Amino acid sequence: MGVQLSKPALWEELRSQPPRITTICSHSSLQIFHGARLEGFSTIGIAEKSPPRFYDAFPKAKPDQFLTMPKLSDVDTLVPQLQKEHAVLIPTGSFVEYVGPEKFNRLPVPVFGNRHVMAWESDREKEREWLEMAHVPMPERFKDASEVDGPVIVKYYGAKGGKGFILAKNSEDLLASPIRQPHVIQEYIIGTRYYLHFFYSPLSTDGYRVADGSLELLGIDRRDEANIDELYKLGSQEELTRSGIQPSFVVTGNVGVVLRESLLPQVFEVAERIVKTSIDLFGGMVGPFCVEGIMTEALEFKVFEISTRIVAGTNLYVSGSPYSDMVMPGLSTGRRIALELRRGLKEDRLGEILS
Ligand code: AMP
Repeated sequence: MGVQLSKPALWEELRSQPPRITTICSHSSLQIFHGARLEGFSTIGIAEKSPPRFYDAFPKAKPDQFLTMPKLSDVDTLVPQLQKEHAVLIPTGSFVEYVGPEKFNRLPVPVFGNRHVMAWESDREKEREWLEMAHVPMPERFKDASEVDGPVIVKYYGAKGGKGFILAKNSEDLLASPIRQPHVIQEYIIGTRYYLHFFYSPLSTDGYRVADGSLELLGIDRRDEANIDELYKLGSQEELTRSGIQPSFVVTGNVGVVLRESLLPQVFEVAERIVKTSIDLFGGMVGPFCVEGIMTEALEFKVFEISTRIVAGTNLYVSGSPYSDMVMPGLSTGRRIALELRRGLKEDRLGEILS
């Protein structure tokens, strides 16, 4: 028996009344509903004001039922209905963005995975503490400009949606930059970005074993970020800065990538250490998570961020990926979540995967 995330009272009820896979109508919801349906689960979509029309265009991914409220941040007003419908919430970036970790943690509705992990993801300091404990290679951090000896990225505290970063090539460049708010100065890693979609199953007894469960790689993407990805077309960064154009990293989409095969052992080891440390720190991270980093020309993977839940880059792989197809043909991360819930029900082990 693995780590128990929660008490069994509610799980008896869910075993007699099938749980309904529920999430906010945004982010990776099409894939979550599609995967749930393939595994025979009924689904609920939570929407602000009215059900979004775009689901009509994707009949195999349309939730069976919608629950709406005036503002997504007031999701707690839906609690009685969610409980009555036996909802199991699937956390996505929309819960982080619109509900926030504090309110989310207090919702008296079962959540897939360990709900306390969200607090670690949304606080850059806590996240760094976790990664340092896991001995994961990361970008260096500088206390002030005098320590800087190469290119850096300056991130403001609370900067949201990829805006509010400053890039500087060296310490002189940094001193000349108009930085005011509280910020962190981080080494700018030159290399190629990879966003690795992992899944940790505490229930699995085969595969790539980590602690009591196993680790799967379900896909890899790279984010399209505006305006940085296309900025070079307008001229050098100095010219742009003079014209008042600042780089931003707003995610607008995702593209599929695969990693050079000889680098797979390295990234699996990184993910393994992150999972093991999460067990020691807060009882473990269960289900999908994303390790976001940069592979340098020395072929060292440096992690700048982790997302502790399904990421939108997995939307590329609704019908499988070059990696997930070797776990199970046609497997998406959404479907993988539904499969884990199905197994937890069958083996009476919901306490290890729900919180
Ligand atoms: P974050 O908010 O930390 O996810 O960063 C947003 C984007 O900034 C990432 O997707 C990368 O494109 C870029 N980025 C963040 N940290 C670094 C870094 N240390 N070196 C290079 N690029 C970075």
